Amino acid sequence: ILLLAVPVTLGFIGLAGWFLGGLAMQPIQQSYTRLQRFTADASHELRAPLSAVISNAQVGIISKSSDRQSQILRFEKIVKVAKSMETLIGQLLFLARHEEALAREFLTHIDLTMWLQELADNYISPVSEHLIKIAVPPQSLKVEANPDLLYQAVTNLLNNACKYTPIGGTVELRLLKRSHLAIIQVKDSGIGIPPQDLPHIFERFYRVDKKRARKTGGFGLGLAIVQQIVQAHGGETSVGSIVGQGSTFEIRLPLTNSN
Ligand code: ADP
Repeated sequence: ILLLAVPVTLGFIGLAGWFLGGLAMQPIQQSYTRLQRFTADASHELRAPLSAVISNAQVGIISKSSDRQSQILRFEKIVKVAKSMETLIGQLLFLARHEEALAREFLTHIDLTMWLQELADNYISPVSEHLIKIAVPPQSLKVEANPDLLYQAVTNLLNNACKYTPIGGTVELRLLKRSHLAIIQVKDSGIGIPPQDLPHIFERFYRVDKKRARKTGGFGLGLAIVQQIVQAHGGETSVGSIVGQGSTFEIRLPLTNSN
């Protein structure tokens, strides 16, 4: 019970913070509608795993069988589902933080050329065995950023690229300079995204195919987190995609004057 009560309580504290922050920045009606939708989506996402935990625990209580193996299987299921709730609540709490607060967090000068090369060398996909192809320019491109947050943004994109690209396909990480911007591209040769979904893809809880996303276990929050991090750095995100051919996600960050 404690396992569930703590994250659920934390989640709703975060939710309240997100709501109050939103109120300060937007007209009341708009904030209210946004809050309603967010609360409905978050509750909906939490209810299914919570029901699974409760029903498995109840079956465990009333079951007369002392078969250790089936008890272990039930506990494993409870742990797996509770972990997915923990992930969801972690993501909700992250999104509840404000961009201004994120931006104030530890900022440092980063040589993106070296930093991305190192990231690619050490990256291991949690979802597949794709190898990442990396292409960086010969010169160093410098930005001011929080390396931990930037790492989360880039790896969220890489994880998605691996998740939605069948084995045998390619996942590429590229860095380029365009005018005063550093462009980080994550390009895959995967399933692609239909054109009608592209404008919504960075919205919270948005999933192209709910059934497909269920199977892959995502909540539709990864890209919203990417966008929040990038905007906190004064940057922008975008995506281009062709169904059946693949997708290219872009993070654009302002270069520092020392470039
Ligand atoms: P999720 O955790 O569900 O993957 P995201 O916010 O990261 O959530 O992505 C939202 C949706 O965008 C996904 O459910 C998926 O349908 C689609 N998507 C994201 N990245 C890709 C990609 N590289 N290729 C195809 N579809 C993608």
